Amino acid sequence: MAVESGTILRGSDGSGARVEILGARNVPLGGPRAMTVRRTLPQRGRTLIGAWCFADHYGPDDIAATGGMDVAPHPHTGLQTVSWLFSGEIEHCDSLGSHALVRPGELNLMTGGSGISHSEVSTSGTTTLHGVQLWVALPDEHRNTARDFQHHVPDPVSLDGAELRVFLGSLAGVTSPVRTFTPLLGAELALAAGASVTLRLDAGFEHGILVDAGDIHVDGTAVRPAELAYAAPGRTTLTVTNGARESARLILLGGPPFGEEIVMWWNFVGRTHEDIVRARDDWQNASERFGHVEGYDGERLPAPALPHATLTPRRNPSPPGGQVR
Ligand code: MN
Repeated sequence: MAVESGTILRGSDGSGARVEILGARNVPLGGPRAMTVRRTLPQRGRTLIGAWCFADHYGPDDIAATGGMDVAPHPHTGLQTVSWLFSGEIEHCDSLGSHALVRPGELNLMTGGSGISHSEVSTSGTTTLHGVQLWVALPDEHRNTARDFQHHVPDPVSLDGAELRVFLGSLAGVTSPVRTFTPLLGAELALAAGASVTLRLDAGFEHGILVDAGDIHVDGTAVRPAELAYAAPGRTTLTVTNGARESARLILLGGPPFGEEIVMWWNFVGRTHEDIVRARDDWQNASERFGHVEGYDGERLPAPALPHATLTPRRNPSPPGGQVR
């Protein structure tokens, strides 16, 4: 179950051999009938896994009860957003003029670069909303790249009782054609009841396994639904088993340690306090930097007030064992 504050729950033995379990905290997304998400990144014990800097997991929500998702136009800078659904449908409108339906099993990757704005609303035909929203930090040399939007539907591949959908990077002989600015891995794994699968990994990557459903063990360590297991670089395999009588589902994330310190605030990723202040001012002043979203019925989201303190980089701890190549 989600706990109120993100913490390292168990598994950190300092050897680097075991996985570390990161708990989720419940965060209201906002809106008139706020939908609650389970956030595992960032948290005190970990800011990034590769360039993955944000992980929200939600549902299955009966949207007749929760009101679903209704996020008014808001800006992003310095990052890419990944929308990945298990069920339901979300209408995405952005300041590139993209008007897309986000559907289960389909990658929608939006590049904020210097600046973009978008809205996200679950469609009227949606009854159950269930999925993840992930962000990728852009490396310094590309963080002011042009805004972009990409869509990709990965073919499922079977491996030892698992069905894999590789939406970014390479796994099990499958490579996503979607361009990224740092090496990344992003995949959905569905595991049959009782299945055990050993994944071959890039030893230069660190990995995260976010469990949606199932009785999951990762290299022998139990990972409960909504928890994120972290595996330090240096591994060539990871074995995932499902002890449940029903099928399990998880999201696998990976990438080489990011190596840059980032400043994250609201919907912005920068490098300094001044980067964030400028982005906030530009949004509040309706600068062309973020463009304009057509197709949303309502006002755009105002930025919250900045904290009084100077924003400082979030420090990412060294992986357990401290060995990073
Ligand atoms: Mn967004």
